[in-house]
Amino acid sequence: MLDTVSAGTPADIERAVAAAGRAFPLWRQVSAVERAHLLHGAAARMREHFDELARLLTLEEGKPLPENEEELDWSLNTLDYYAELGRHTRGRVLPSPAPGQLSLVLKEPYGVVGCIVPWNYPILLLIWKLAPALAAGNTVVIKPPSLTPLTILWLVEVAFSDFPPGVVNVVTGRGSEVGDALVTHPDVPVIAFTGSTAVGLHISRSTAGQMKKLHLELGGKDPFVIADDAPLDEALEAAVAYAALINAGQVCTSTERVYVPRAMYARFSEALAERVGRLRLGPGLEPTTDMGPMIGDSGRDLVAEHVADAVARGARVLAGGRRPPHLERGFFYEPTVLVDVDHSMRIMREETFGPTIPLMPYDTFDEAIGLANDTEYGLGACLYTHDARKVRRFYEEVRAGTIWINDPLTDNYAGPFGGMKMSGMGRELGEEGLEEFWQTKHVHWDIEGGSKNFWYPY
Ligand code: NAD
Repeated sequence: MLDTVSAGTPADIERAVAAAGRAFPLWRQVSAVERAHLLHGAAARMREHFDELARLLTLEEGKPLPENEEELDWSLNTLDYYAELGRHTRGRVLPSPAPGQLSLVLKEPYGVVGCIVPWNYPILLLIWKLAPALAAGNTVVIKPPSLTPLTILWLVEVAFSDFPPGVVNVVTGRGSEVGDALVTHPDVPVIAFTGSTAVGLHISRSTAGQMKKLHLELGGKDPFVIADDAPLDEALEAAVAYAALINAGQVCTSTERVYVPRAMYARFSEALAERVGRLRLGPGLEPTTDMGPMIGDSGRDLVAEHVADAVARGARVLAGGRRPPHLERGFFYEPTVLVDVDHSMRIMREETFGPTIPLMPYDTFDEAIGLANDTEYGLGACLYTHDARKVRRFYEEVRAGTIWINDPLTDNYAGPFGGMKMSGMGRELGEEGLEEFWQTKHVHWDIEGGSKNFWYPY
C-alpha cells in the first residue's frame, strides 16, 4: 500500500455541499474572463509540477510513466480549452416575433455539481468534468476514487488553490457511503459520473424521484474490426501495442473483441501472439516497462474467470493466460491472446477490463458489422481499412459514441466523447461537454411594453 486517506462520512458531504452552495451565488457572478484566468492558472500549476504529479499518478495507478504523462498532458490542455470556450458564449439572441421585442436564450449554471470518477484515469476524467462545470459557473464537490485519491487531493490543494473558497470541494471515502450521500443530496442538481454501468444504474435508481440531471459515462465492450485490405503489421500494432493493452486493458474504450477476415485469421493470430509475447511487464516507473500491473485482485480475478470460461467453452490460449510467475509483487496478468472464441463466451459479452485480446474470424463485412453491434454496450468501435466504402458503412451502421478509423483511442478534447446504449448518456469534451453543465432559459422581453390586441376582451 502506498498511503491511506481518511474515509469521509455523509456528514462531510453535508458540509462540502453547504460550502459549495454558499460559494455558488458569488462564483456565478465572477466574469467569464476571470474564470478563464483561474482555469489557465490551474493548468499552469500542473505544468510546473508535471514530473512530480506524473510520478505520483504512476505510483498510485500503476500504468507506465509515459501513459501518465499523456494523461496529464490531455488534462491540462482540457483546462486551457474550457478556459477559452467558457468565455465565448452565454446563449443567443433570436429574431423576435414582433417589433420592439427581444428573445434571449440564456445558458445558466445549475449550482452544485457532484463529480465522481474511477481510478483508471482519475485526473483526466475529473478534469473533463471540472473544467466545463467551473467554466459554466457551477461549483463542485468531488468524490475521488477510493483506490487512487492522492493525485486528486494534490490537484485540489495545489492546482486549484487560487479559486475562491467553496468553489472546489473534495471528500474522500467509499462509494457506498460518501458517493451515495453526494448523489442523493437534494442540493446537488447535477451528477457527473464516470464508472461502471452497474453503479451508473444504481445512481439512476437512487435519484429517480429527484429530477436530477445525470451525466453518466459507463462501461464498454469495444469491437475492433480488421478489414480484408488492412496491412497486417500495421493493424496488429494498432490493436496490440495500443488499443487492447494500454493501461493493461483497463480503459473504458479498450479494444475487448477483435474480428479478423477468415483468410487472414491464422496468420494474424500467430503474429499477434508472437508480438504480445515480447511485451515487457514491470513497475510503471521502470523505463523498460511496456505494460504495468492491474489495479487489484478483484479485477485480475475477473480476467482469470473470463479466460477460464472461454477455455471451458472451446477457446485456445495462444499467448499469456496466467499471472506471470516471475512477478510475485503487484497485480500482474500476462497479456493474453485467445482464438476460437464466439459470442456465447463471457469474454465476448461482458466487460473484461484487463489485458485480453480475443480474436474471432468473420466471412463478410456485413457479418463483421453485425458482430460489432451484438453487444449491450455502445462506447467506442475501431476499424482498420483504407476502403472508403467500408469506412462509411462502419460509421453509419455501428452504434457507438466514438468511431476510430486506423487510429484507435486517439483523443481530441475539442470533440465530444460518450456512450450509446448501456454505455451511458451525455457527452464530455467539446462544446457538448460545456452544454451539459448549463441549463437553458428563454427570456421574452417586450422592450416598449403596451397593450396587445390578443389580450381580453376578445
Ligand atoms: P465503479 O463504478 O466501481 O466506481 C466509480 C466511482 O464510483 C468510484 O469513485 C466509486 O467510489 C464510486 N461509487 C461506487 N459506488 C457508488 C455509489 N453507490 N454511489 C456513488 N458513487 C459510487 O468503477 P471503477 O471500478 O472505479 O472503474 C471502472 C469502470 O469505469 C469500468 O466499467 C469502466 O468501463 C468505467 N469507465 C468508463 C469511462 C467512460 O468514460 N465511459 C471511463 C473510465 C472508466
